[in-house]
Amino acid sequence: MSPPLVIPFFIPHQGCPHLCIFCNQRLIAGQTSKTQTSDSEASRLSDVVHTYLQFKKNRARVELAFFGGNFLGLEKSRIRALLKTVQPWIRRGQIHSIRCSTRPDTVTPQVLDFTRPFGLETVELGVQSMNDHVLAQARRGHTSSDTRKALALLKTHGFGTGAQVMVGLPGDSDVGAVRTAEELAELKPDLVRIYPLLVLHGSKLAQWYKTGQYVPLSLDQAIDQTKKMVSIFKTAEISIARIGLQATQMMDDTGQMIAGPWHPAFGHLVLSALMFDQACERIDFALTGNDRSIGKPEKKKIALQVHSRSLSRLQGDRKTNLNRLLQRYPEISFTIEKNDTLAMDQIHACIVSA
Ligand code: SF4
Repeated sequence: MSPPLVIPFFIPHQGCPHLCIFCNQRLIAGQTSKTQTSDSEASRLSDVVHTYLQFKKNRARVELAFFGGNFLGLEKSRIRALLKTVQPWIRRGQIHSIRCSTRPDTVTPQVLDFTRPFGLETVELGVQSMNDHVLAQARRGHTSSDTRKALALLKTHGFGTGAQVMVGLPGDSDVGAVRTAEELAELKPDLVRIYPLLVLHGSKLAQWYKTGQYVPLSLDQAIDQTKKMVSIFKTAEISIARIGLQATQMMDDTGQMIAGPWHPAFGHLVLSALMFDQACERIDFALTGNDRSIGKPEKKKIALQVHSRSLSRLQGDRKTNLNRLLQRYPEISFTIEKNDTLAMDQIHACIVSA
């Protein structure tokens, strides 16, 4: 089945009483019309829905998503106005469900009971980390216990659940990122999104970066940490909705994004790194019992088979994976073959000749 059409409606950083160190809320708030009336916001929402519905094509489902702010922390009248605006499309069966992102500490039984009848079905929490020291350093204003409570509450109220986490937060580490993924995996949200921390102009983090108090992860470090988290979530059978930020104009604008492991295809790099690890495992397994001593006159040949849709992930960005395989296994020559009987991202390695 084709994925749903997601109509994103951004409420940048609104509904939030806090100021995390990585957030450039004040800057964005200055650029966003705070005097926007509920009428003009409703009309902007209607325009966005109209525009996106033209691209529905043959997709069976349409979801409206309130992203970019603390949706459940908005004033009740504003939540009601936004949700009421889309009711005609819901009644006509043109929008099938609504999702939003919010802080864990704004999830209450009252707000869930209030929003559910309007069609809000999935709530994604800005979890960021499950380590309270890391959360405190990031000045998130909530703890991991808020995340646990919010996820439990959402589940008992029958909502779909999502969790957004970050790599590269001050005070966090390789081990810390793994621990966050493990603890979150035990709580079983329906989906996760993983983002590398970037230093944005106007944020507290930007000051720390300039004084050397904060050093961002390198791209390789961010890929490695994210890869470990992805692996844990995959093992726990938790859907990974997104890895890395979308290539918005802001990310290309170095005036806004000062530093950090930004790459427009970050998710692809992470999934390719996982494919490389898997390829090595499969090759080592295929070689078990075979003599793989380097310097043997006759070269071995190994065919790596993958589903056609996983081909570019196996090859890696600019064939990086292939080059790394050739360096790691100089005694082997590789061919890559399509095999659509395999599951996505599954690799089969077989020795063609020895
Ligand atoms: S929770 Fe943090 S990142 Fe989100 S809007 Fe509030 S201050 Fe910004």
